[in-house]
Amino acid sequence: MKFRSTRKTAKSCQISEAIQQGLATDGGLFVPQDWPHMSIQPEWPRLSFAKLSIEVLRPFFTGDQLEKKLDEICTRAFDFPVPVQDLGNDTAVLELFYGPTNAFKDFGARFLALCLNELPRTLNRMVLVATSGDTGGAGAAAFSEFTDIPVVILYPKGKISPRQEKQLTVWGNRVRAFAVNGDFDDCQKLVKEAFNSPDWRKRFDLVSANSINLGRLLPQMVGFVFASLKYQADHGAEPGVIVPTGNAGHAVSALWARKIGFPIRKVIFAHNANQAVYGYFRSGQWRARKTIATLANAMDVSEPSNFERVLDLYPSLEELKKVADAYSITDDQICATVKTEWTLHRQLWCPHSAIAACVRQQLTDPHWIIAATAHPAKFETVLEPLIGSKIEIPINLKNLLSLKSKSELVNANLKSLQAALF
Ligand SMILES: *Cc1c(COP(=O)(O)O)cnc(C)c1O
Repeated sequence: MKFRSTRKTAKSCQISEAIQQGLATDGGLFVPQDWPHMSIQPEWPRLSFAKLSIEVLRPFFTGDQLEKKLDEICTRAFDFPVPVQDLGNDTAVLELFYGPTNAFKDFGARFLALCLNELPRTLNRMVLVATSGDTGGAGAAAFSEFTDIPVVILYPKGKISPRQEKQLTVWGNRVRAFAVNGDFDDCQKLVKEAFNSPDWRKRFDLVSANSINLGRLLPQMVGFVFASLKYQADHGAEPGVIVPTGNAGHAVSALWARKIGFPIRKVIFAHNANQAVYGYFRSGQWRARKTIATLANAMDVSEPSNFERVLDLYPSLEELKKVADAYSITDDQICATVKTEWTLHRQLWCPHSAIAACVRQQLTDPHWIIAATAHPAKFETVLEPLIGSKIEIPINLKNLLSLKSKSELVNANLKSLQAALF
């Protein structure tokens, strides 16, 4: 199986190479050169998440040096529960927040870390990652657990929740966390500049753990495969999926799961007040905007990098609209959804998942799966005042909260980061 660049000038390569490069050499993103079509086996709806992931990911690893390791990687990466719960009779929730950092980012980060750990490497390899909230923590946890590769995390100062910050900053010397004076797009820009800088390339063998990396995108597909198979088996209908979306990696993985033949009727890009994708669906125009800070901070992205993969798959908006749609939800709507769902159903959503729940209320056709992307306890400062009670803290988060934090402050330019790292 080969992967090509969305910009079509870089050479195609196999999965190991694509994972190590992150971004293709022509600046594009890797996508499958040819799409496998899965023949779904009758027992698949009953497989465990780890077992199903081996089946779903196998074609993407065919002929690659990681192929032999895939079983072991999946088994180790996905060793936590992935509940799919019915909410009424035409909606289900896919709970992706029972990994070590209680966010869906654990799926991709753990898989990526285990892949990189199996690949030959240089001494000065380093993971460089920008985070809008959850990627950094998931990456730090995964790389600390499975590898001895050093990690550098950039996060927007003051724009992530206190517990998210805790999850970035407690990992000791091998994981350095930098609070950047700027927003998430500034952090992403810094990472891109570092990757393109000859000075950095001389000094470090950089790998990216951002959601552009195939090592994160591919395992995220499995969540939608797992939930859609189960939903279809239980309800006899093809569900649509509603995906809380920021950088659009998760939504792309849902489109890819659909593309290779799994029963997903439609993919909804559920955005916060950052409206680039929503605007594109409505007008066909892509307009640069400033990032807006919202209660769903892990989705505060003004230019979703992964949208290049959406356009690669569906260059025509008309075709895209047959399989997908986009919504944009305000902070007020997030709060209202959290309150009413708690009051009426004792269902508690994190601010990101609340966006998907709010979109569900607006959709009139039946059979939807809501992707719940983070545990509410990570956002207690937002949620507890809304519901007027304390949220129980999951044990792994409780353990992390007792550790000592350390972070360093830098300005949003490469010089400032260099001063700390070179
Ligand atoms: C990262 C994140 C998202 C958005 O995922 P993308 O792949 O960037 O679109 C949604 N919810 C939570 C909790 C996240 O951490």
